[in-house]
Amino acid sequence: MTIVRIVAVLTAASGLLAAVIAMSTASVMRGSGAMRMWLTAWPILDAVALVATFERRSPIWGRIVSRGRPRSPAIALTFDDGPTEPYTSQILDVLRAFDARATFFVLGLRAAAAPAALTRAVADGHELGNHTWDHAALPLATPRVIRGTIRRTSDLVERVTGVRPRVFRAPFGWRNPWVDRVAHGEGCQPIAWTIGVHDTDRPGAGVIERRVTERLHDGAIVLLHDGRSLDDHPDASQVVEALPGIVREARRRGLRLLTVSELLAEGGRQRSSPSNRREPCGE
Ligand SMILES: [Zn+2]
Repeated sequence: MTIVRIVAVLTAASGLLAAVIAMSTASVMRGSGAMRMWLTAWPILDAVALVATFERRSPIWGRIVSRGRPRSPAIALTFDDGPTEPYTSQILDVLRAFDARATFFVLGLRAAAAPAALTRAVADGHELGNHTWDHAALPLATPRVIRGTIRRTSDLVERVTGVRPRVFRAPFGWRNPWVDRVAHGEGCQPIAWTIGVHDTDRPGAGVIERRVTERLHDGAIVLLHDGRSLDDHPDASQVVEALPGIVREARRRGLRLLTVSELLAEGGRQRSSPSNRREPCGE
């Protein structure tokens, strides 16, 4: 299990670090002071490392954006793990019917198999974000591996659409000390999310719609999926079914539907002109 391995490595590393701290200060301590310090420092360092790695909004491994301006009457719908047909095209159909914008955090591997969905998404004014090549968890990855998976995906998206992703989302939202720095180096702002509704568990379209609309608020970044990691046969039909209700409710509340980059560029403006709403971003 990936998560067990990550926790074990972080726990061992924090224990080692605590030992180094205890040994380096042992000379100024008497008796069992160094051991006591090690036993105290280990769980503290371990807890910090676990929060930094698994809490998607934690700033410990680097600043992460999980929402837009709280007073901006707009939200960003995001769809991860695709493109996966027919769901991505069905989502694009719904968004087109409502003249709404969204962001697709694509997997390079999936994008290579469905390039038409990418070109259509860009043509329709949506944003393409980078979600790594193969959805491999990043906490134990080296900077070189992280750079490789991000760059390979961005290269593919740019080759297919002419547009290079400017936003990045780590698989599962899990990071390590290098993820944010490497993503920035590849021209991508790391993005988390405000509202996640466990839509990949397929709880029912009505439940997905209710979970999103109950928590909708200004500046929210909503996480949904048009795929499921590297599952070859994901079923995102419930998301497709829930989407019209979500968009309708957002509009009813006066919330515009923007891409992530548009949402972050709001700059505190309360309203933007209709012409601004049409601008694609991510070039
Ligand atoms: Zn994902």
